[in-house]
Amino acid sequence: MNNTKPKTLKESGFYQTKEWRKARKLALQRDHYLCQLRISKDCTRKANTVHHIKELEDYPELALTLSNLTSCCYACHEETKTKGRELPRGVRIIKM
Ligand SMILES: [Zn+2]
Repeated sequence: MNNTKPKTLKESGFYQTKEWRKARKLALQRDHYLCQLRISKDCTRKANTVHHIKELEDYPELALTLSNLTSCCYACHEETKTKGRELPRGVRIIKM
């Protein structure tokens, strides 16, 4: 077993920090608690998740940068994981 790998931010409890909770709340307020990703066509769901546009693990320095955060609903956020790609603000993916 290889246990020398450094912990990711997530593993080290980033999502439990009060800095993250604050940034997350600010992003939701900025986006009026509405899903900004809208990957699912016509998604008008309330946002309950905040997504890192540039991945947390790749850009830890942007972890708390509001311009790197976008509010989204759970379903759209799951889509970003399965697609594994960045979704710049305003870009929509139309499912075929
Ligand atoms: Zn959505």
